[in-house]
Amino acid sequence: MQFAGVVGQRKIKRQLAAMADEGRVGHAILFCEEPGYGALPLAIAFASYLSCPSKSGGDSCGTCPSCNKFRKLIHPDLHFAMPVSSTKTITADKKPVSDLFASEWREILTENCYLTEQEWYEHIGIENKSGIIGVNEAALISRKLSLRSFEGGKKFLIIWLPERMNQEAANKLLKLLEEPPQETFIFLVSEAPERIISTIVSRCQIFKLSPTETEELSAELTEEFDITPEEARFWAGISGGSLSRARVLIGESDKESEFFKPLATLLDGCASRDLMKIINFWEEIAQTGRERQRAFCEYTLEFLRRALIIQAGTPEISNTPPAQKEFVTYWANRLKPAFFIKGYDALNNALADIDRNVNSKYIFADLGNRFFLSL
Ligand SMILES: [Zn+2]
Repeated sequence: MQFAGVVGQRKIKRQLAAMADEGRVGHAILFCEEPGYGALPLAIAFASYLSCPSKSGGDSCGTCPSCNKFRKLIHPDLHFAMPVSSTKTITADKKPVSDLFASEWREILTENCYLTEQEWYEHIGIENKSGIIGVNEAALISRKLSLRSFEGGKKFLIIWLPERMNQEAANKLLKLLEEPPQETFIFLVSEAPERIISTIVSRCQIFKLSPTETEELSAELTEEFDITPEEARFWAGISGGSLSRARVLIGESDKESEFFKPLATLLDGCASRDLMKIINFWEEIAQTGRERQRAFCEYTLEFLRRALIIQAGTPEISNTPPAQKEFVTYWANRLKPAFFIKGYDALNNALADIDRNVNSKYIFADLGNRFFLSL
């Protein structure tokens, strides 16, 4: 992992490189971020930079033996600690610590170093509970860092989500920060620094990441997804500078696009007083499963919300994806103000009926009729 692999964050990369070049790196650094700004890849890239003997132009070389091991996350002097919990295979009596999840960690991180806490828990199969960094972990950390460096250079410990440390673990880590082993760097990557005990925070150099720059984030999204630069800028904008958030939003909009056709059929049928179109609409949607029916209603509620905001003359805050702008704007100009409340009511009734297992044909024939009468 090089700085080049971290999306945006130009300023902080420059600061870190300069600090390393001038030999001013403290033994403990706390990186604070909102999920998706890239603090974890940044911390790894920084360790790689400090370790690389051939760095130039503000980045590690990417090709020397050290860089290669950092890229594959197999450098013996790079240690990680992250929240874990007991799973089906690693039961509580085995005292779960990060090392027992090392291969899962490497696997997910080489695929996506912008992983979220929830993605991590899902990956190790504990999605219904939170992980912790416990006292066994802290004891292991102390032992590891007291050993000599394997490669004779610097040692690194990256603690991901230190806010998940319990009190006992935090006290042990504090001792380590008070008497740091030689040539050892501890990087804490936190999304909630206010939940870390202040005595730890006060011993760290603090770097607060800003949202990823729109330009770089858009470029990354254009590369990852099949979208236009205009769409990429839109998603980068509403993600608040978070790559992981932008990915989720784009994924959701893909799902949304499948509801576009039935909604267009319904609205066209109502506007042109074409009952056949409305019957087609409800027969088709009634054949799908409850989850899709529910998602269709939610999509249509969101459509109405966007149309209403556009009608109110503030399209810039409607968060309408570029691909749907034309459609939503067209209907925003056609729908009567009185329609919105009736439409909301009809959709909320339909949602309640879906939950009550009412016959699907009845639900959507009723929805079609209500739209027909109100539009
Ligand atoms: Zn290198």
